[in-house]
Amino acid sequence: AAKGAGRNRFSYFTPALQVAALNRMRLTNDLRSAIKGDQLKLYFQPIVHLKTGRIVKAEALLRWQHPQRGLVSPLEFIPLAESSGLIVDIGQWVFNESIRWVQRWRRGVHPEFQVSLNQSPVEFQREGGSYDVWLRALRQLDVPGQAIVVEITEGLLLDASTMVTDKLLQLRDAGIQVALDDFGTGYSSLSYLNKFDIDYLKIDRSFVRNLAPDSSDMALSEAIIVMAHKLGLHVIAEGVETAQQRDLLAAAGCDYGQGYLFDKPLPAEEFDALLHARSAVLAVQ
Ligand code: C2E
Ligand code: MG
Ligand code: MG
Ligand code: MG
Repeated sequence: AAKGAGRNRFSYFTPALQVAALNRMRLTNDLRSAIKGDQLKLYFQPIVHLKTGRIVKAEALLRWQHPQRGLVSPLEFIPLAESSGLIVDIGQWVFNESIRWVQRWRRGVHPEFQVSLNQSPVEFQREGGSYDVWLRALRQLDVPGQAIVVEITEGLLLDASTMVTDKLLQLRDAGIQVALDDFGTGYSSLSYLNKFDIDYLKIDRSFVRNLAPDSSDMALSEAIIVMAHKLGLHVIAEGVETAQQRDLLAAAGCDYGQGYLFDKPLPAEEFDALLHARSAVLAVQ
């Protein structure tokens, strides 16, 4: 009986783990061909200046159109890209696409338009990687560093090595700005806000979700906004889904909003059309 139970336990747990591991391996292999096979798509989500309602920035968000599985979430494939090292090529592809688009939008829509890019900690800390390739690409297209914002997360700054510090300085030297993504969800040690040159705080959508007058999330959001402004940072609220959330944030002095209220992440071409339609309306007014 003991033997039987042992075998049962074995057969119950191991196949599930094997299936998961196999699944990851397959997906990683598919990801390798996705880069070459035109399956990665860059989406853009508007970031709106709350006082004027204008779209002045966009966050680049990666999508993978898998031939069999359909749309795979970045939450699923970015970790695979990191562990396999594919993140380097993927990140470079995202960068190249982004600067092509931002060049067009700065020329055609808004001279100070910015595109915001996500850099995962593994990506940011990868060995030997420097931003030389980025800087060369920017120069080739004659796009200033100011057109780009790099989004990093708090964890990266908490145990910042000299490599992290050097890279942040490299970005700064090139005029590239830095945003702290998902602010408030990590370790929330505030001392690093002074230590590093950061331009934007993105209030995580978990605070925005329950915003109501006199709620504790309202108090927290207000405090973050006041603190950020005193330190010379601008604030972007993530996950704005309702007009009430937008109005409360605007009243609290929040600078920018991003979320389904304004628009979902859109395929680059659709976002481009939206931007041009909006700027045409502004030109007529
Ligand atoms: P993130 O950087 O915090 O991006 C914001 C996420 O919130 C996006 O999810 C976006 O679609 C979603 N979102 C925006 N507005 C709303 C809203 O009003 N309500 C709700 N419920 N969600 C909203 P997405 O596109 O699935 O991306 C997930 C994460 O994957 C990103 O979180 C980012 O960490 C990562 N990611 C996406 N693209 C890239 C990339 O090119 N490189 C790297 N390293 N990571 C990426
Ligand atoms: Mg982000
Ligand atoms: Mg975020
Ligand atoms: Mg977030």
